Amino acid sequence: MSATVIDGKAFAATVRQKVGGHVARLKEEHGITPGLAVVLVGEDPASQVYVRSKGKMTLEVGMASYEHKLEIDTSEADLLALIAQLNADPKIHGILVQLPLPPHLDSDLVINAIDPAKDVDGFHISNVGLLGTGQKSMVPCTPLGCLMMLRDHHGSLSGMNAVVIGRSNIVGKPMANLLLGDSCTVTIAHSRTKDLPGVVRQADIVIAAVGRPEMVIGDWIKPGATVIDVGINRIDKPEGGTRLVGDAEYASCAAVAGAITPVPGGVGPMTIACLLANTITACCRANGLAEPEGLTV
Ligand code: NDP
Repeated sequence: MSATVIDGKAFAATVRQKVGGHVARLKEEHGITPGLAVVLVGEDPASQVYVRSKGKMTLEVGMASYEHKLEIDTSEADLLALIAQLNADPKIHGILVQLPLPPHLDSDLVINAIDPAKDVDGFHISNVGLLGTGQKSMVPCTPLGCLMMLRDHHGSLSGMNAVVIGRSNIVGKPMANLLLGDSCTVTIAHSRTKDLPGVVRQADIVIAAVGRPEMVIGDWIKPGATVIDVGINRIDKPEGGTRLVGDAEYASCAAVAGAITPVPGGVGPMTIACLLANTITACCRANGLAEPEGLTV
């Protein structure tokens, strides 16, 4: 068997196009321009790349982008003051604080200072609780992107066995909650899971969110299963230089799976598309307008 490749890059482009259409309508019919504020503390190179591409894509869909770049030694009080200002600003519909923060700043405190209605990353404790209890919330972007691709590929996920490898607050746990919401039977695996290959072999859907290059191999995959590879790992090439690989070994998994997301070009592009989707959802909710269909759960 050779797996269908789930093209996250193409799918993300359709999501952004949909978002762009809604932005144009909001401007035309209501005179509202959705605004996304991104806060970056320090000069972590990977974070700078993410923030730059978030800003670029925000503008491309017609939204307003507000970037706040703060010095690495910014105090917690100053950061909280900025968040309070963004919370109160009616031009801003979404606020994202780029993680990781420098160690002297308490990430939980900072994230929980964001107005939950503007928390487009979906990390505020209120949104975590709402998602966990099946209520309307802001949904973390990466798991939302994975769910969108799964729904697009399968239609209904009801009754499927899903194994999520990884239990982080930003990927594994919200992903498991979303799959549960779509009536999957969900197993969350982690570093203490016994017989991980055996657990994964039961899965119709495998979500690999581990942070270990090419850990999941084809021998673990049930024939025909869908593999969603969240991992982004940079490894050395034997001939020099580096390349990006996922948490699943692509060739061996693709030989057995029914469908698979590549790395790069799978989950990654969907994450930013879902950030934009969340911003338009937040903007519609803030203005008492019907939220666009298919852009959130
Ligand atoms: P974390 O490091 O926060 O979590 C990793 C999880 O994997 C932990 O729950 C850990 O278990 C588990 N784990 C580690 N080793 C093993 C093992 N040998 N067997 C089974 N489970 C294991 O990572 P994140 O959730 O933040 O990210 C996961 C991956 O996804 C990374 O590669 C990251 O780069 C990528 N990522 C990609 C995004 C995208 O946009 N595509 C966005 C966010 C992340 P335990 O809890 O027991 O330690």
